[in-house]
Amino acid sequence: GSARRGLRLEPAAAREVLGAADTLLFDCDGVLWRGDAAVAGAPAVLSRLQARAKRLYYVTNNSSRTRDAYAEKLRRLGFPPAEPRQVFGSAYCAARYLSQALPPDAAAYVLGSPALSAELRAVGVPHLGPGPAALPGPGPADWTRAPLDPAVRAVLVGFDEHFCYAKLCLALRYLLRGGPDCLLVGTNRDHRLPLEGGAAIPGTGCLVKAVEMAAEREAFIIGKPSRYIFDCLASEFKIDPARTIMVGDRLDTDILMGNNCGLTTLLTLTGVTTLEEVKGHQESDCPSRKSLVPDYYVDSIADLLPALED
Ligand code: PLP
Ligand code: CA
Repeated sequence: GSARRGLRLEPAAAREVLGAADTLLFDCDGVLWRGDAAVAGAPAVLSRLQARAKRLYYVTNNSSRTRDAYAEKLRRLGFPPAEPRQVFGSAYCAARYLSQALPPDAAAYVLGSPALSAELRAVGVPHLGPGPAALPGPGPADWTRAPLDPAVRAVLVGFDEHFCYAKLCLALRYLLRGGPDCLLVGTNRDHRLPLEGGAAIPGTGCLVKAVEMAAEREAFIIGKPSRYIFDCLASEFKIDPARTIMVGDRLDTDILMGNNCGLTTLLTLTGVTTLEEVKGHQESDCPSRKSLVPDYYVDSIADLLPALED
C-alpha cells in the first residue's frame, strides 16, 4: 500500500493505480451489485478493465452460491463473461481445503446450503448433510444416541438457514469423538448480512461461533479476512500481489484481507461501510484498527469510468 492511506481515488490517480495493476479481485455483493441489481456503471467498468487485458477474479464469502451460479449472475446482470474458475467463493475454497486436508475416503459433516454440498461433490469430498437425511430425530434422546457415521473426520460450517440444536449436537458429537483429528472448518465469520434500510440478519459467523463454543476449540476459517481464500486463488493463477487490487465494501473482511496479503486495497461506499468508519480507524492509534484502512476509496466503482476512457 501507499504511504498515505484512506485517500479518495480521483481520476488522475486512478489512471496511475489501474495502470500499475494487472489483476483485480472483486468482492461481489455491495461492490458489483446490491441484491439483484447491478451497481450502476459497474458492468461498463469491468468491460473496460477486461478490454485493457486486466485479469478479473471474484472473491466472495457467500457460501450459499456455487461458482457456476456466480458466473451466471454476472452474465445476467450484464458483466463481461466470467468462467466459473475465476470465482473464488468460500464454498468452493472450503471444498478444496477439505479435499486436500482429509485422508482418502474420509467424510465431512456439513452444516450449510445445497450449494456447499454441490461444491463438495464437484471435488469429490464425501459428506453428510445438508438436508433432513443427515438429521437425527426430533427429541433429545435422538440427539445423543443417533448413530454416528464412522467415516466423518471433519465438521464444516457454512451459511445454513436450517441451522438447529439437533445439528449442533451432532457436530459436537463428531468433534468429541474425533478429538483433534476431526477438522473444524468455517466458511467465513461475517457477523451480519445487511438488508435494505439498515435491517440485518445473522451471518455465518454466528453459526461458526456456536459450534466453536460447544467444542471449546477454534475453527479454521476459509473466507476473507483469512488469507486461505487468496492463497487458493494464487495457487491456481499466477498472482503478483504488488500488481493486484482488492476491491471491496467491507473493512473487516475485504480490506483487511487485501492489506494482510500485500494487495492494493480499494473500498467502495456502495455497500456496508461509511466514510466515518474509515476516518475513525484512520485516526485511531490502535494497529489492528489501522489495518482496516483501505489504500483508497471511491463512492462507487463507477467512479473509475473516467480513468478508463481513452
Ligand atoms: N454470506 C452470505 C450467506 C451472503 O448472502 C453474503 C452476501 O450476500 C455474504 C456472506 C457476503 O458476501 P461477499 O463477501 O460477496 O460480500
Ligand atoms: Ca460485500
